[in-house]
Amino acid sequence: MINIVLFGKPGAGKGTQAEFLKGKYNLVHLSTGDIFRFNIKNDTELGRLAQTFMDKGDLVPDAVTIQMLQSEVDRNPQAAGFLFDGFPRTLAQAEALDAFLSSKNEEITATVALEADDNILVARLLERGKTSGRPDDQDEEKIRNRYDEYNQKTAPLMHYYSAQNKFYAVDGIGSIEEVTERLSAVLDQL
Ligand code: AMP
Repeated sequence: MINIVLFGKPGAGKGTQAEFLKGKYNLVHLSTGDIFRFNIKNDTELGRLAQTFMDKGDLVPDAVTIQMLQSEVDRNPQAAGFLFDGFPRTLAQAEALDAFLSSKNEEITATVALEADDNILVARLLERGKTSGRPDDQDEEKIRNRYDEYNQKTAPLMHYYSAQNKFYAVDGIGSIEEVTERLSAVLDQL
């Protein structure tokens, strides 16, 4: 199995790139943000809980997120590999993911971060907010809070995966095709 984690601040292009990569490498794409939004749309208990955090740009608590992710992995027993998008976002999530995969004799193959300057990303998100309908894309304060969450809780994971020789970074600025090529160059040499 190939199991890839896609890192990047909100707006860095994780979702867009995941759409290409999942087909190219035959991976099941799991976006925790998308799964939460699906639950909100369907007014599930999980959705109502997640919404209170997401609307403010805060992370949803680890216990809820980890359990949800694990059940999504378990729902795909035939998968040739996973593309994790937006998970893990905290050290507790990364450790839980390692333990969970290792219980299945699997592991994370590599993690790749899409890097981009904050100011470019804020502008991109505000633009996306005009059409995405996402409340967390429409307010600069919420967007900045999502970056604070990323810097405080998610950025340290780069050290966690670097220590395992599993961390790669690519420049996220450029055309969609250019960025896909940079990501493919990393994944092809794994
Ligand atoms: P995203 O679509 O990845 O930008 O995620 C949107 C929002 O969903 C985030 O701002 C969080 O509130 C929540 N979320 C998504 N993934 C996670 C995660 N792994 N841990 C905690 N909260 C998450």
